[in-house]
Amino acid sequence: MNGAATARILTDQVRGAVLLPGDAGFDARRKGFQTAYHHRPSVIVRPDGPEDVVAAVAHAAGAGLSVAAQATGHGLSFPLDGGVLVDTSTLTGVTVDARAGTARVAAGTRFTDVVDAAARHGLAPLNGSAPGVGAVGYVLGGGLGLLGRRFGWAADHVRAVEIVTPDARSRRVTADSDPGLFRALRGAGANFGVVTAVELELVRISRIYGGELVFDLARTPDLLERYLGWTRTLPEELTSSVSLVAYPDLPLFPARLRGRLAGHVRIAHTGDARSGECLAAPLRAIGHLLSDTLAEMPYTECGAIYDDPHMPHAYLGDNVLLRAVTPEQAAAVTELAGAPGPVPCVVDVRHLGGALGRQPAVPNVVGHREARYLLRVLVPLMGAEPDHADRMRRAVLDTVAGQSVGGRCQNLVYGRPPGPAEDFWEPADHRWLTGLKTRLDPANLFRCNRNIPPAAHG
Ligand SMILES: Cc1cc2nc3c(=O)[nH]c(=O)nc-3n(C[C@H](O)[C@H](O)[C@H](O)COP(=O)(O)OP(=O)(O)OC[C@H]3O[C@@H](n4cnc5c(N)ncnc54)[C@H](O)[C@@H]3O)c2cc1C
Repeated sequence: MNGAATARILTDQVRGAVLLPGDAGFDARRKGFQTAYHHRPSVIVRPDGPEDVVAAVAHAAGAGLSVAAQATGHGLSFPLDGGVLVDTSTLTGVTVDARAGTARVAAGTRFTDVVDAAARHGLAPLNGSAPGVGAVGYVLGGGLGLLGRRFGWAADHVRAVEIVTPDARSRRVTADSDPGLFRALRGAGANFGVVTAVELELVRISRIYGGELVFDLARTPDLLERYLGWTRTLPEELTSSVSLVAYPDLPLFPARLRGRLAGHVRIAHTGDARSGECLAAPLRAIGHLLSDTLAEMPYTECGAIYDDPHMPHAYLGDNVLLRAVTPEQAAAVTELAGAPGPVPCVVDVRHLGGALGRQPAVPNVVGHREARYLLRVLVPLMGAEPDHADRMRRAVLDTVAGQSVGGRCQNLVYGRPPGPAEDFWEPADHRWLTGLKTRLDPANLFRCNRNIPPAAHG
């Protein structure tokens, strides 16, 4: 069926907007925050409500087209080439039930709005480092948050998922209504339909002690090893990471960082400021700080801890979940992070464990919970050749290969690095998810994602 015929049918069925190539707004809506890829759909549906999503999925199923949802494009790695793009940025809104401690979050809502709405009731969601990320995409991929060691993965705190499944039915999925699908949705990404809203449990947090200490690595070359030693002393109330960044000498970076290898230790501590100061004291004692922003802050300012980029750009990233990192491996990773390159390559280690290591009350498919650290390589492309990014990725991840628990965190993979997609899940969960996918989406309509192909496609 050609594009015009598609549009005619959908325009009659959809209350929101239907855009075709060439229409005003089509190009803007098919792009996302990640600029290394762009969707090239044959049609974009901007729904006015779940019924419009039902119409879009029914149409795609009938025409044998693939479907994908996009909220912000922060995780855009598998662009549609033809097919139906459901632009969920039209479905926004947060309704907090303060008594239940939950929030119903519509599919296109960014965490910034969830954080603000929850804060009015002294509550907070389990968002990640960048509140500009879409809440639904983040939760579907597990959600490794600022307060992870205290409260676990964001997917552990989902009460309900409203979704349009590949059979074009709108359902509200809970642990009671459909335990299998509920388990799969919390960690199996976008494989099972277009989510129209989620109901999230909030936590009673309104202030944290947090920020970053930035070290000059030329003078503290063993920072990574010392950071790892420090993490072994910490309570679950403190979640942290360290990022090693070799900043090129370019005016776009702050003067104090240009041309330096810097180590950013980021902290979010749910205890009071005094205990935060005590816990941070051994790090501050290392000295050679380029900056220190650690302080008590309202949770609404949590985005300042990582101060992730706000401007759309191209980036590639990969990670590995680790049991441990030896001092020799820490030294080798630091050396690689400092290697000169055309762009600042970011190597970070996130401290896991605590509640991230425990199973949730209602099981989901976020696995590899025995991991104690996540090592990630992130390369903004800035016009530089992707080969450099790939060389860095391989070199850094190879350094710690013997420590892998055999898995990766799907949310922190950007682009399509080589490696088996199934290692986002435990092998038994992947087999089970394949069975569910075969039953619910045998034609693999939802394939432009970190895909779990149905058995016939495998
Ligand atoms: C700067 C930055 C910081 C980040 N920090 C963290 C972090 O600290 N912790 C963490 O866990 N992750 C983090 N992420 C990763 C981020 O959580 C994922 O990329 C997430 O998938 C983004 O969701 P989105 O809706 O914003 O992006 P999109 O690109 O719009 O969507 C990402 C994926 O989710 C699917 N999807 C989106 N909405 C729906 C829906 N309604 N129904 C079905 N599928 C849907 C899309 O099809 C796509 O496959 C970060 C990413 C960036 C770029």
